[in-house]
Amino acid sequence: MLLINCPYCGERDQSEFSNGGEAHVARPKNPELVSDREWSEYVFIRANPKGIFYERWVHTHGCKKWFNAVRNTSTDEILKIYKLGEEPPTLKDFKNTPKTPSGEPKVGSGNFAVKKL
Ligand SMILES: [Zn+2]
Repeated sequence: MLLINCPYCGERDQSEFSNGGEAHVARPKNPELVSDREWSEYVFIRANPKGIFYERWVHTHGCKKWFNAVRNTSTDEILKIYKLGEEPPTLKDFKNTPKTPSGEPKVGSGNFAVKKL
């Protein structure tokens, strides 16, 4: 069971929350001036790192408020939670956090024991 510490309600079960994807994706200031390609990249293209990731969460079955979290996607450890509008922590704040649990590459499953026939 994963517990998430809502900044408004406190610690609750993960089942009460919904992930809103990558945080800090800025909407173009003049959407009518951007190309279709730039707009589609804003709407659809997101980082999908294996390791530390800034994401948005909403307490769907609680206060219904949005907040940001820094999560290690390879270990599922939530490293920091902060309210919208607060300054996000820098990656230097997490320099001692292993990017992956056992040092496997940044991309891929890391399962190199399976040999192709
Ligand atoms: Zn809440």
